[in-house]
Amino acid sequence: MVRRSWERAISIRTRLTLLYVTLLAVVLLSFSGFVYWSLSRSVRVATDRLLLTEAQALSSALEVGDGVLSLNLGAEEMPPGIVATLFDRDGKHVLETTNPSLVMVSTAVARAVQGEPTYTTVEAPDGTVWRVLTLPLRQDGEQVAVLQVARDERDLHAALRQLERLFAVAIPVTLVVAVALGQFLGWRALSPVDRLTRAAAQIGAEHLSARLPVQSRDEVGRLAATFNDLLDRLAAAFARERRFTANAAHELRTPLTLLIASADVTLERPRSAEEYRQVIAGIREDAARLSHLVDDLLVLARADAGTLRLAREPVDVAQLILATHERLLPLARARGVTLALGRLESALVLGDRVWLTRLLANLVENGLTYTLPGGTVTVSTGRRQSDVLIDVADTGPGIAPEHVPYIFEPFYRIDVSRSRDVGGSGLGLAISRWIARAHGGDVHVSSTLGIGSVFTVQLPEWRDE
Ligand code: ADP
Repeated sequence: MVRRSWERAISIRTRLTLLYVTLLAVVLLSFSGFVYWSLSRSVRVATDRLLLTEAQALSSALEVGDGVLSLNLGAEEMPPGIVATLFDRDGKHVLETTNPSLVMVSTAVARAVQGEPTYTTVEAPDGTVWRVLTLPLRQDGEQVAVLQVARDERDLHAALRQLERLFAVAIPVTLVVAVALGQFLGWRALSPVDRLTRAAAQIGAEHLSARLPVQSRDEVGRLAATFNDLLDRLAAAFARERRFTANAAHELRTPLTLLIASADVTLERPRSAEEYRQVIAGIREDAARLSHLVDDLLVLARADAGTLRLAREPVDVAQLILATHERLLPLARARGVTLALGRLESALVLGDRVWLTRLLANLVENGLTYTLPGGTVTVSTGRRQSDVLIDVADTGPGIAPEHVPYIFEPFYRIDVSRSRDVGGSGLGLAISRWIARAHGGDVHVSSTLGIGSVFTVQLPEWRDE
């Protein structure tokens, strides 16, 4: 939803207050409107009923003698607050109880002549408001006269005016109090958020160790805790990044220093062609190793950044093992280690053949590297539930339990001098693990010192259905 700029500029506190005060205003206005309407209606109904009762009482005092109408009623018997006027059956004015000019509704009289009673409200010339009932009177089934009774509505109007005045004061006062209360409550509820914002603003990349205060277990407290978790993860990621860069620089610097030193020593005095050839061959070998190291670093950096794309095609694991076995046999022979094949169950995984080959070759090469001559490295594969498992087992030195949790970390080497002798940079297993995980699987090791290690790659099996 696109928010208008003014909507974004107004604080949550003001928006909440506005919303609830508007709601309150609507409720108050509808409520007072309803009270006003129902009060005036019920008073009006009561007045009308009273008028009718009194008109009926008066009609019983009506006397018709020789066509002349008269009300047989003493002045003291006249109901209080009532004004009555009598007309003959043709609507001609006959007599009245008080000032005749006070109330007379001629249209209503005309209608009463037709036999129809009417209630009307009229304003008298002196400004008073009257409720008037105009009633046709019958005797022996024949219409004989028209009676008009009126009652002053002054009290009702006064009461209603007072109610209006009450509403006119009470509603605005209530709304003003509501605005003040809303602002105060909003301030109380949201001030922890302001505090968090200020605290968060102090935390930069340089101060990632700082944490937000978690003072409560409410929404704001949870926000602070979540933010702190995020900071933990960020700090860990930054630390990993720094370690990686420092390690990478260190790994590159040592061979480069050696390279420069050997070139310097060679250049100190003239050498024979054979000596130059040997030094250049050595430099080439070192450069090749460095190039390999830089390749591995790039792979890990790109894997970390998520920019490495893997193909997704069905790959037969048994065939992959056969091909790798064939390719690495010469290396195994050179190391004096037997490279054997165990049980090979044919199974498919969905993935990138080149990267899977690299994963397998890394593990087998490690086995061949760390196993002493005369030992054996055996590769086998089989299915388990919905997974394909590849085992690379060796009869090498094994890995002490304290090292096991770390050997998949970049640059981690157990015996640095030996590992460096054999050209390892400590990146092989990290890359292997990344490849396995990028395929939805993982790599684990189980090892016994002095007996050997088994590296197990687990990959989800792919079935062509
Ligand atoms: P490297 O390039 O040093 O071999 P790896 O990431 O491949 O780096 O391995 C990390 C460390 O784990 C190695 O330095 C080695 O100490 C240990 N390691 C790996 N494979 C084996 C194995 N098959 N037997 C014993 N130790 C091993």
